[in-house]
Amino acid sequence: MPDNCIFCQIVAEQAPAHRVIEDDLAVAFCDIFPIATGHTLVIPRQHAANVFEIDEEPMRATAALARRVSHALRDALAPDGLAVYQANGAAAGQTVWHYHVHLIPRNDGEPLAFHGRTRADDAELAAMAKRIAGHLPG
Ligand SMILES: [Zn+2]
Repeated sequence: MPDNCIFCQIVAEQAPAHRVIEDDLAVAFCDIFPIATGHTLVIPRQHAANVFEIDEEPMRATAALARRVSHALRDALAPDGLAVYQANGAAAGQTVWHYHVHLIPRNDGEPLAFHGRTRADDAELAAMAKRIAGHLPG
């Protein structure tokens, strides 16, 4: 793994993250710069910078986990909508060079944005991760 990749460090538990759920191939955790309550990231364990580098199996696993967490977010937070966003390259808004899917609960009237500027409180993120996990489909 690239030793400067923060998401690889999270996968390896060398960096903290408020995990919602994980499996053999993917990990879901709360974004520490959330743009909305419940903003969750889903990443493959295997490092790949973007959609052009990722193998099919980890991409499928990431999508499947994103689907499960989407259901949990809907049940936990009842947002008006849910954005599923995956950026490739700076021009598309990518800022971490490890493939990731954003799950962003949206509510009517909120402005669209994809990266928050304020770091969230750890206790709030921990509570949110637990809350979302409590709604995961079986
Ligand atoms: Zn990585």
